[in-house]
Amino acid sequence: MIIVMKPGATEENLSRVKEKIERAGLSYHLSVGENRTIVGVIGDKKIIGSIEENMSVLDGVEKAVRITEKYKLVSREFHPEPTVIDVRGFKIGGEELAIMAGPCAVESMEQLREAAAEVKKGGAQFLRGGAFKPRTSPYDFQGLAEDGLKMLRSVGDEFDLRVVTEIVDLNDVELVSKYADVLQIGARNMQNFRLLQAVGHGTKPVLLKRGLSATISEWLNAAEYVMSAGNENVMLCERGIRTYETFTRNTLDLSAVAAVKELSHLPIIVDPSHGTGRWQMVQPMARAAVAAGADGLIIEVHPHPEVALSDGDQSLTPKNFRATMDEVRKIAAIMGRK
Ligand code: PEP
Ligand code: MN
Repeated sequence: MIIVMKPGATEENLSRVKEKIERAGLSYHLSVGENRTIVGVIGDKKIIGSIEENMSVLDGVEKAVRITEKYKLVSREFHPEPTVIDVRGFKIGGEELAIMAGPCAVESMEQLREAAAEVKKGGAQFLRGGAFKPRTSPYDFQGLAEDGLKMLRSVGDEFDLRVVTEIVDLNDVELVSKYADVLQIGARNMQNFRLLQAVGHGTKPVLLKRGLSATISEWLNAAEYVMSAGNENVMLCERGIRTYETFTRNTLDLSAVAAVKELSHLPIIVDPSHGTGRWQMVQPMARAAVAAGADGLIIEVHPHPEVALSDGDQSLTPKNFRATMDEVRKIAAIMGRK
């Protein structure tokens, strides 16, 4: 249930509301907006139902509304204003589009430096790259682990880029947090609830990718796991879902951008690289994502895609990345974004 306070509600009115909630053995989450405060009530559904009527008659309360979805902290009803996440001075969900770019996997210092120099030139503020790669086959390149993390940090600092990298093990939160600015939860781990709680106990911003076959509701519930553990810095990432189509690696669901904007206050980033699996489609889908209202893009860029150790087919060359960014900037301007 959410309790919407009247615009003129006093501190005392709010205290009475909080008191009633606590006395019923429930807890709450406050969202203080410019005009009004919203109190999200969390706890046993039956108890919430039993106090609903009593709440709506309290002084200063405009209405008490039952929320049918299980996720609450991520919902737009709980928190009507869009969330903006500050990552070392860059505001994700703000006016400027977040551009995260770099290779699928960190392969070597040379590869990463070359990629970083190029994506920086193209206008990226974030360097992406996997050090722990969740590969479909155990015989494929698995990533450089901590050596890769060290390279990301050092190259990120050298080129003044924030670092986004995937975490695959709940025991690695401290390790990956030491090097990264944003912790990526990959599609394959979207419902790894222990991992979600582990990153939820920290404070590093989390980029939560949509699961391979996850519904929007399952995805938002996964974000709720992170937020309910205490970490409110969560951004979602649409990266395509499994359908019957085989021409593309996945079907990029851009309607999810609009859906997320309707249902949640969290920023949403689109990954047209994994979303299509084909470098030729990255530019048009990047444009479309921004037109649909995405807050940013995460794009695979490799200095030499033909020799990439993973995802070469979907990686842009530096030249194509720059061309893509030129196009994206035109759409961004129409959308009132930078
Ligand atoms: C990646 O970003 O390199 C990755 C493995 O993505 P996903 O989890 O979306 O497949
Ligand atoms: Mn990849």
